[in-house]
Amino acid sequence: MNTPKKELRILRYPDPRLKEVAREVAEIDDEVRLLAENMLHTMYLAKGIGLAATQVGEPRRIIVSDVSKDRNNPICIINPKIIARDGERQSEEGCLSVPGYRDKVKRSERVTVSGIDLSGAGIEIEADGLLAACIQHEIDHLDGRLFVDYLSKLRQERARERVRKASR
Ligand code: ZN
Repeated sequence: MNTPKKELRILRYPDPRLKEVAREVAEIDDEVRLLAENMLHTMYLAKGIGLAATQVGEPRRIIVSDVSKDRNNPICIINPKIIARDGERQSEEGCLSVPGYRDKVKRSERVTVSGIDLSGAGIEIEADGLLAACIQHEIDHLDGRLFVDYLSKLRQERARERVRKASR
């Protein structure tokens, strides 16, 4: 595809569109591929490690990620589904929709995710560590859930305040 890549606008907490539950993608066509490419482009520009379509105002079940150090190992999963999980791990997370705020979240240590790739082929990814946390975080977005939803009301208020400051 030779269409120039476009930077998409990332919605910010507490935008109500971030609470929408995304719908399944029925067909992997050029439009879906372009959206995924633009999502990756936007994620790299924002120096993030993951992005869900919900965050760019497209409530469809598409996530992208790259947790590699060299930022050259993009992953795109369409209709991702966690089919196995194991262990527990708490780590600090941030979110491109919650700029300026990080906090600890407890998640499964290892997950197996199934889904479809951009060629339309079925895929299964076993992940642990940072990638496992990232995939769970992004799938949460598709279900209208943010990492701050796991925190106390006080911490949520603090996060909102940081986003307000970052948005100025
Ligand atoms: Zn996020």
